[in-house]
Amino acid sequence: MKLLSKLDPRRLNGKTVLLRIDLNVEPGMPIDSYRVAGVLPTIKLLRKAGATVVILSHRGRPTLPPDKKRTGRSADWTQFSENRGLSLRPFATLLSTKLSSPVRFLAYEEMHSHKLREQVRIKGGVVLFENLRFHPGEERDDAKFAKFLAKLGDLYVNDAFAVSHRANASVHALTKLLPSYAGLRLERELAALAAVLGRVVHPVTLIIGGAKVADKIGMVERFGKTADHILLAGGPANTFFSASKLPVGDSVVDVESLPFAKKNLKNPKVVLPVDVKVHARRILDVGERTVALFAEIVERSGTIVWNGPLGLFEQRTYAHGTMGLWQAIARNRKAVTVVGGGETIASLALVPDLKLPQNVFLSTGGGAMLEFLAGKKLPGIQALK
Ligand code: ADP
Ligand code: MG
Repeated sequence: MKLLSKLDPRRLNGKTVLLRIDLNVEPGMPIDSYRVAGVLPTIKLLRKAGATVVILSHRGRPTLPPDKKRTGRSADWTQFSENRGLSLRPFATLLSTKLSSPVRFLAYEEMHSHKLREQVRIKGGVVLFENLRFHPGEERDDAKFAKFLAKLGDLYVNDAFAVSHRANASVHALTKLLPSYAGLRLERELAALAAVLGRVVHPVTLIIGGAKVADKIGMVERFGKTADHILLAGGPANTFFSASKLPVGDSVVDVESLPFAKKNLKNPKVVLPVDVKVHARRILDVGERTVALFAEIVERSGTIVWNGPLGLFEQRTYAHGTMGLWQAIARNRKAVTVVGGGETIASLALVPDLKLPQNVFLSTGGGAMLEFLAGKKLPGIQALK
């Protein structure tokens, strides 16, 4: 693995570095997040070495009207109402405060300017690009889009673990065109997760909640051998309930994952909630008996891996499950624990006075963390080897 920490800083002086970070914060969530804090050391290192930093990131899942979907190029993504709120502009202000120096924001319209290269290469400056997913080439891992980006810089650094499981242009295709390195945060992430894999202490408990069911439910099989207990909540649990013909009303369910859930209904390792909180036909949290059941399993585990809040924790009424799990994790002083995911880590704010044991590692990745621990090779990580 090529590491930024091992690169001679003199090789960065006067160079322009394309830095992929993860600013994927849902609209409405505080942008001053754990993810942003995590990449500041890399930006500071690059600036100290005399490099110009061009920050690349995506945010959310922008959409286009169906008739524009095929080409995408001529459409102005930012004008499509559903994409409002997915601009990265607010992060320019936030980053400039955190770095105590100006960060120039490059709007979508400016990306097509003939002078783009000069605009970007401001000596010693920091530039933030608009949401990469406003360009259809990003998610398609398009070589042409990667080439367009590559022309703007001399080196590439990936500090976005949370997106490294996706073969997207800014994580994968771009690495073929520029000397590419893992950033400081990515390096820490990989070291911590590799340490967990290197010393698995049973019982191993996997907890999956949250809303992105399709991305995560497959872990029930992927962790089938390693895990002793697989506790489900949120969307994944609802999908299992639905597969077993329990009424779920309008709850978050992934219909496409129903066959998978059916197949795994009899999996003896899977533990489903035994009581739930319902409002307006939607299951929004686990109940008290489930919190006790999950806590009991977590407290006697040797290894704990958790991604996905247990309920709609953004509303205090449905935060009990998630808070209860954090408390159970804190009570287990011996286990090696990895907790990851954008919202999962954000939910730590629910328990501000909690003292987490030293052995708890907070990962920025949700899906990426699960895939890495399941032994899958991540395209963005492989590309740095
Ligand atoms: P992460 O970002 O940690 O990887 P996800 O993105 O999969 O997790 O899901 C996080 C979201 O899931 C949170 O916003 C939370 O409100 C939501 N959620 C969890 N349980 C439920 C539920 N039962 N019903 C609706 N939303 C839920
Ligand atoms: Mg999320």
